[in-house]
Amino acid sequence: MEASFAGKRALVIGAGKGIGRATALALARCGAKVIAVTRTQADLNSLVEECASITPVCVDLTDWGATEQALQDVGPVDLLVNNAACANLQPFLEVTPDKFEQAFSVNVKAVVQVSQLVARGMKARGSGGSIVNVSSQASQRALREHAVYCATKAALDMLSKVMALELGPHQIRVNTVNPTVVMTDMGRLGWSDPEKAKSMKSRIPLGRFAEVEEVVNSILFLLSEKSSMINGVTLPVDGGFLAC
Ligand code: NDP
Repeated sequence: MEASFAGKRALVIGAGKGIGRATALALARCGAKVIAVTRTQADLNSLVEECASITPVCVDLTDWGATEQALQDVGPVDLLVNNAACANLQPFLEVTPDKFEQAFSVNVKAVVQVSQLVARGMKARGSGGSIVNVSSQASQRALREHAVYCATKAALDMLSKVMALELGPHQIRVNTVNPTVVMTDMGRLGWSDPEKAKSMKSRIPLGRFAEVEEVVNSILFLLSEKSSMINGVTLPVDGGFLAC
């Protein structure tokens, strides 16, 4: 998307791979100073090789103390993308407490923590800002073996609405994007099986999965001033899946 983020500082969480990595690179191309957070150092090394202006931060978001420490010196942030997530697929009757806790810790709790850190700074500076939380179509539709993942994304949608309500008066907008399947590492985990893929595509009016860039463009739109009156929305990027 054509947008200028010159002079803006952007924090992208889960920026090592997939949608988060592409978002970090796109923001940097559009002039933002990007801080990229993920837990695999090798991904950060290759990201900085690809774009030297990006500041890397390596931390496991399931560790509240380590996350607080890792982010304490990132400086002021104008734009936040909470994109990190894990999708531990288990049939409902086989859901285990460790996978449940890991999913809620990354997909929901870390969003609370990172957004608090960032929004406190935005409020104190009176600068406003924009936060985009990367949710999923799975927040609003039941998907087999996705019980915990669906629950985390439903929680994220409502968390985002309350954030929009409470942070709006400080000119901090909070929105979600809710993509359909994207063939990243995470997408391949659930949808590589041709039968499953075919069945999902048959429920998407456009008849295909989303491309990474299509999700990135929607994130950039919600971060940008072009969406200056949009707050508290869940934006499907799903070819019409949720409309049906
Ligand atoms: P990927 O698995 O490709 O990338 C996720 C990124 O988040 C990785 O860099 C990963 O690091 C990082 N991450 C995960 N857990 C942690 C953690 N504990 N601490 C720090 N970083 C972590 O996912 P996608 O790009 O596909 O997904 C991005 C977002 O889009 C997610 O919120 C996902 O739920 C959502 N989404 C994805 C869809 C899809 O089909 N792909 C569909 C709908 C929504 P590492 O690899 O080192 O674990």
